Amino acid sequence: MHFKKMKSLLCLPAIALCATLSMGSASAHDANISRNIPASDTSVASIGMISSNEQVAIGLVRTTEEMVRAREELAARKEAIEAAKIAEEQAAIQAANPYTPNYQRIVAYSPAHTANQSITANGIDLGKFKITFYCACEQCSGGYGNNTATGTKCTEGRTIAVDPSVIPLGSEVFIEGFGSFVAEDTGGAIKQNKIDIYLSDHDRCYSLGVANANVYLMNK
Ligand SMILES: [Zn+2]
Repeated sequence: MHFKKMKSLLCLPAIALCATLSMGSASAHDANISRNIPASDTSVASIGMISSNEQVAIGLVRTTEEMVRAREELAARKEAIEAAKIAEEQAAIQAANPYTPNYQRIVAYSPAHTANQSITANGIDLGKFKITFYCACEQCSGGYGNNTATGTKCTEGRTIAVDPSVIPLGSEVFIEGFGSFVAEDTGGAIKQNKIDIYLSDHDRCYSLGVANANVYLMNK
């Protein structure tokens, strides 16, 4: 039993030698393979490493750009939602307060013609205007009579003369203190923030004189 063990121990160096020989042979083989790799392949391998690093860097830049873009898109979407909400609220206010002009009336100053919610919801505040009055007489209209610049007949309670560069002809206009009108006439002296309100008789043009009033351009 004891001897048998010794024998097996004696065999060990032989096994070790075999292993060494076989390892040696393997190393030599590997060395041959390394020598057979062309130099260009090594360069390609290192370029591959650089380009993969660059790709990581480009990837990071792209990620930052994408984050900025995503943030901008989100902000734009929020803005659009907010604008839609405001427009919806505005439409609801307009629906609840419709603008219903009454052109069948005698023009006179009245505190009842205030810029209420129906005016502010449907109109654009153009600010203060100098208000004067005219009729179809020679002195006021110089031969044009009751023909307006837009081809209509001058009608009290509807016709006003404006500067078309300030208020487009055909616009509905609300003059605080005097009510609703249509911009359908022009006048040589009616420039910038001046409005001439048509009246059917000359005496009342004198008695109403000159006024200053807030003017609103109404939606059609
Ligand atoms: Zn007149």
